Amino acid sequence: MEIEKSYIISKLSGPVFDVLTESADALQLETYIIGGFVRDLIIRRPSKDIDVVCVGSGIELAQEVVNRLGKKANFAFFKNYRTAQVKYQETEIEFVGARKESYSHDSRNPVVENGSLQDDLNRRDFTINAMAICINKDRFGELIDPFDGLLDLDECLIKTPLDPDITFSDDPLRMLRAIRFATQLGFFIEYDTFEAIERNKDRITIISKERIVDELNKIVLAPRPSIGFELLEQTGLLSIIFPELVALKGIETKEGIGHKDNFSHTLTVLDNLSQTTDNLWLRWAALFHDIGKARVKRFDNKLGWTFHGHEYKGMKMLKNIFQRMKLPLNDKLKYVEKLVSLHMRPIVLADEEVTDSAIRRLLFEAGDEIDDLMSLCEADITSKNPEKVKRFLYNFKLVRSKLKEIEEKDRVRNFQPPIDGLEIMEMFHLPAGRLVGELKSAIKEAILDGEIPNEYEAAREYLLKLAAEKGIA
Ligand code: ATP
Ligand code: MG
Repeated sequence: MEIEKSYIISKLSGPVFDVLTESADALQLETYIIGGFVRDLIIRRPSKDIDVVCVGSGIELAQEVVNRLGKKANFAFFKNYRTAQVKYQETEIEFVGARKESYSHDSRNPVVENGSLQDDLNRRDFTINAMAICINKDRFGELIDPFDGLLDLDECLIKTPLDPDITFSDDPLRMLRAIRFATQLGFFIEYDTFEAIERNKDRITIISKERIVDELNKIVLAPRPSIGFELLEQTGLLSIIFPELVALKGIETKEGIGHKDNFSHTLTVLDNLSQTTDNLWLRWAALFHDIGKARVKRFDNKLGWTFHGHEYKGMKMLKNIFQRMKLPLNDKLKYVEKLVSLHMRPIVLADEEVTDSAIRRLLFEAGDEIDDLMSLCEADITSKNPEKVKRFLYNFKLVRSKLKEIEEKDRVRNFQPPIDGLEIMEMFHLPAGRLVGELKSAIKEAILDGEIPNEYEAAREYLLKLAAEKGIA
């Protein structure tokens, strides 16, 4: 690939770049923009963050840049890493002095010394990330590309600059980064690099869960996340970080009857959903929606393969998985649990007669998540039979319009029964206890079944009648 210097220069205009050049020249520091920003500039991919390397003190350069940018710039300094960060409007610029890193096998942390630009590029993860553009005035826009990153960009290849076994063993997170870039950019992992991931996969266990999840989130948020999960599976990394997903793989046949491969089905659902939403947690829910299937799979002589209760089993597995992966155990877990546990409900509804009371119950249980649940269910239709797909989509449309109609009429989404426990206790002079709970839930059931409207007076009347029947009042 040829890249015009004039194109590069045209992309480096504006106050930030002007100040970078002035500061670097004033301090007489050889200075480069490096890494992801250079890569993205060449493939015309938007990128916000700028990484700057100078041969000398990155901190001093950052300080000079802040002084020149004035009050609107913020400065932060990370002593342990000897890096500095400057924020100016929407742009984040990271400064570091060119460094050389050497790893020893028994320590995770490298010995870091000052080095040349070449040393600095040697320690980078992939050839496409190991390019630099000089921003000193006399060499402004000059591209440094010692590992033919341009060529690999052209050929859509992810390849380590040095021996991949060394690159991956030094920092095993790079294996996940390789897969993440392949997924985000739609690139291929070069053969030797791929084989080295297979050989070094077990070293991923020395990496913290937080760093792993950062990369996984980026894979999940990519345009076609399935690319990443296929690669994770093929390299053997998935068995280490997500054995529950690998357990979904494969087709078993008994008495001539097979079932679908639930791993590839799951990935198709995730890809489908990714076309309609960028909601990270909704995408995670798609990845986990059938996670319980491997554990409840049965062969029944009459029914063939069944996965009864997989949505409930799957929901129950999530807390453990979230805990292990250090995914957030707060409302995000609750949200994913809800979607996984309810994901069969609209399908059952669409398959049978869509009654008002079934719709009301679904609305009540899904609450604000109802639209996300419907999106998940629509993405879940992966049948290869076009007639079947058409029928399901049509039925879901019916369910959606019914949902809207019932919600407008009865407002049952997130509803609280119009009479609470305290009021029930006062009405019938009852102590707190099981009976109060029963009366309260009888009101809720009557509203969901459509016996009474979701209103105070109606609920009160219903309650008095019920109490009389039970001989309470
Ligand atoms: P993005 O910002 O889109 O995630 P990026 O390539 O900018 O992509 P960063 O994590 O911001 O990735 O890192 C910036 C640069 O630092 C990379 O392009 C690469 O040159 C280098 N780099 C980052 N992490 C590593 C690593 N673990 N090993 C080697 N080099 C790395
Ligand atoms: Mg970056």
